[in-house]
Formats: sequence, C-alpha cells, structure tokens
Amino acid sequence: MNHISIAIDGPSGAGKSTLARLLAQELRYIYVDTGAMYRAVGLYVARAGVESRDRDRIAALLPGIEIKLRYEDGVQQIFLNGENVSRAIRTEEASRYASDVSAVPEVRAFLLGAQRALAENADVIMDGRDIGTVVLPQADVKIFLTASSEERARRRYEELREKGEDVVYDDVLRHLVERDKNDSDRAAAPLRPAGDAVILDTTGNTLEQSLDVLRAVIKEKSGHVV
Ligand code: C5P
Repeated sequence: MNHISIAIDGPSGAGKSTLARLLAQELRYIYVDTGAMYRAVGLYVARAGVESRDRDRIAALLPGIEIKLRYEDGVQQIFLNGENVSRAIRTEEASRYASDVSAVPEVRAFLLGAQRALAENADVIMDGRDIGTVVLPQADVKIFLTASSEERARRRYEELREKGEDVVYDDVLRHLVERDKNDSDRAAAPLRPAGDAVILDTTGNTLEQSLDVLRAVIKEKSGHVV
C-alpha cells in the first residue's frame, strides 16, 4: 500500500515542528522531526570531544551511532545508543552542533536511509530542511514555511526561557541568523524550497491561523480533509 507523505521544510523557528505535530495528530499520521536526528548526531560528536566541523573524524564516529525514534502517546522520543536524548538535544549548544554536523555529507547519507524507511512504512508528516528536495522528492504535499528572522528568534527565545534556559534575545537572533546561513550556504542539501513546494510566510500569524492555512493546502494537494 502506498503511504501518504507530507514534507514541511523551512528555517529554524518558522513553526514547523509545532504545526507538523498538531497536524499529524489530527490526521493520525506519524510525525517525524528530522532535525532531532541531526541534533542527536551533534550531541554524540560533542560528547566525543570532536570538533563540529571535523569531517573525517565525524564520519569515523558514525558506525558507533544508533538512532531510534519511538512514539510515546504520539510524541516522538529520540534514542541515541539506547539513551533517551529528547531533552538533551534541545540546548543552544546542541543546535549549533547539529547545524555544523548536518553539513557533513556522510552524516546526511547516514540519516537519509532511516528517514526514507520511516516514510515507506507509514503515513508521515516529516519536517526538516531538505525533505521536499532530497529525502522525499515524491511527497504528496510539500510546504516551505518561513517567517522573519526577528519573529523566529522571538519564538525560539520564549521557548528557551520557558524551559528555564538563561538566554539573551540578541544572542538567540545572532545564532539563528548564523544557522540559517550555515544551512543555506552548505553544498550538501542546502535549505531551499522544492520547485513544487507551497511557500507560506507565518510572520504575524497566530498558531490557529497558520494551522488553517496548512489544512487548506493539505486538503487541496492530497484531497485529505484535516
Ligand atoms: O529543525 P532543527 O532546528 O531541530 O534542526 C537542527 C539542525 O539540523 C538544523 O540547523 C539543520 O542544520 C539540520 N537539519 C538538516 N536537515 C534536516 C533537518 C535538520 O540539515 N532535514
């Protein structure tokens, strides 16, 4: 049986994960957060004391990494060599490591197979940077979500503060702009919309407004009523 796949790409803080998670619940699809997989690799590299841009040493670490996604009450949990790292991957340091290691082609190749296998076995909403362009070029629906850097930084700042992280807005904005640049300029699977993606700017939208727009796009492209 052919499974339905919905690809949601875009820069960090555009609201991809929140929206994808909610839509996946409504549709009863599996939500796959591919950023978490890059974060888990980044965490492993950081813990191994390897520099985040040292391609050869990072590539050499990959055979020692096993990443598994599990779903508890519909919420994705990510395991790195058996350890649940769902929280540990959410720090600013892990974000920077994830962005750096994701530019390593061997890391991308390492995760690609697992990502495609997930979409072969279930109806999925998968979010990331290259889902519509590289991972699932045949996705039924492709959405590229974006928002102004300031708004994305504000959302990320509030999220981190809520989690008790002692961060400063200007630093969050600076890191976010750096990460966008890293993600867009890299040679391997750079961040850009697929030619057939629907581009949605969520600046100034409430969550409910963005959800409505996405529901309409999914309905139009897949015939699925959310
Ligand atoms: O989405 P999230 O911010 O958790 O992703 C962390 C990092 O992983 C991003 O900055 C990006 O560099 C990388 N990433 C990627 N390709 C994906 C998903 C995430 O390169 N499909």
